Amino acid sequence: MLLRIVSLALFVLLLPVRLVAATGPYASPVLNDFFLDLNQRRAAHRVAPLQAITAAQAVELEKVLVQLRGQPANSSSVETEIHRLFPNAGRLAWLTRGYPSEPKGSELAALLQPAKGPTSSVDWFGTDFTHAALALAPQATGAGWTVFALLFENVPDYETVLLRSGQRTFFFTCPQCQKRFAGTLTGEYSQSIHCPDDGLKIAEFGRDSSSHLDHVCSFIEPFKPEDLRARTPPPGLAELCGDIWLRCLGSLSYRRHGNPDYWFRGPETWKAHVGDCKDGSVLLAAWLRAEGIPARVALGYLAEKPLAAPQLSAGMKYPGRRDADGHAWVVLPADGDDYILESTNHHWNRRVPPLARLENRYWPESQVTPNTLLVRRQTDWTSDYGNPSLWTKIPKR
Ligand SMILES: [Zn+2]
Repeated sequence: MLLRIVSLALFVLLLPVRLVAATGPYASPVLNDFFLDLNQRRAAHRVAPLQAITAAQAVELEKVLVQLRGQPANSSSVETEIHRLFPNAGRLAWLTRGYPSEPKGSELAALLQPAKGPTSSVDWFGTDFTHAALALAPQATGAGWTVFALLFENVPDYETVLLRSGQRTFFFTCPQCQKRFAGTLTGEYSQSIHCPDDGLKIAEFGRDSSSHLDHVCSFIEPFKPEDLRARTPPPGLAELCGDIWLRCLGSLSYRRHGNPDYWFRGPETWKAHVGDCKDGSVLLAAWLRAEGIPARVALGYLAEKPLAAPQLSAGMKYPGRRDADGHAWVVLPADGDDYILESTNHHWNRRVPPLARLENRYWPESQVTPNTLLVRRQTDWTSDYGNPSLWTKIPKR
């Protein structure tokens, strides 16, 4: 058989390594033809074309291939180098193949047969991969040639605009430990992303009433009911907050959305007059924000009874669903303190908003504003919503 897979033979090659980038200065006609043929075949399979690496990346990849030459190469060192060069590479696959002489186009076309690479299947027609790179070089012995083929999935850093355009897999960066990791959103349910190293929640997504995932910050866009615009607001900040709060409470009946759950935006809740705790909180915070009042939506748990002192001791975690339900409420900073505004009609006195630091039924995990997600840094319970040392600020992207 003329063709054989020569694992890692590439790394004992002599100069020159010739790389192909679709439009770069390192293109070689035979590799370019292979690349065009590949994308035509992908089109026939109704699969998006593979993109070539950029010319600048081709220069860097060439350096990597030259550097690795002569070293005891193994899969992990190759992958380490590839990830260094392509920090947004998610899944990747690569193979090397030897030829007795400089391969012609028809010989290279045989590469497109299903093959197994050192890392995983090299599926030229799969939808997983978005990018390809090819390199061609004579072997050290002078007796043959080797082709190096790399396929990878370019995973973008998280951005809400990409989420809205249908992208589901992203790189996230933990603001606490700086770890970068890829995460995939299922697209069906509200979902959080946690750092795999330290467990910090670094992103949170809600499913909206059209079944689209959105960043939770997006739900709190300032909103003021159209039908109340003409009204003269009460004088004084406290009176204004109280008025908005009571109007929200008065207009809302509690209703769960069922399974899977979803989030209403402020205008939807106002129109429907029904919603669950997060809908009411989103409406209330959005309305307060429309009046310039920096309210936040807190997401966490609500215990049925005040938590006993031992449950609040250092190291205690969330008391468990047996004792507390997932809940959302509004936090209102005022006079150097934080107050809790309930949007859900509870049986307790709702005429006087409680001081947050005295309310230990509430177990906040995160706080949401239109631009920032605040996540609790420690596992210990806290009622100190405003202490910057306890909360990690994650700007919405
Ligand atoms: Zn981390």
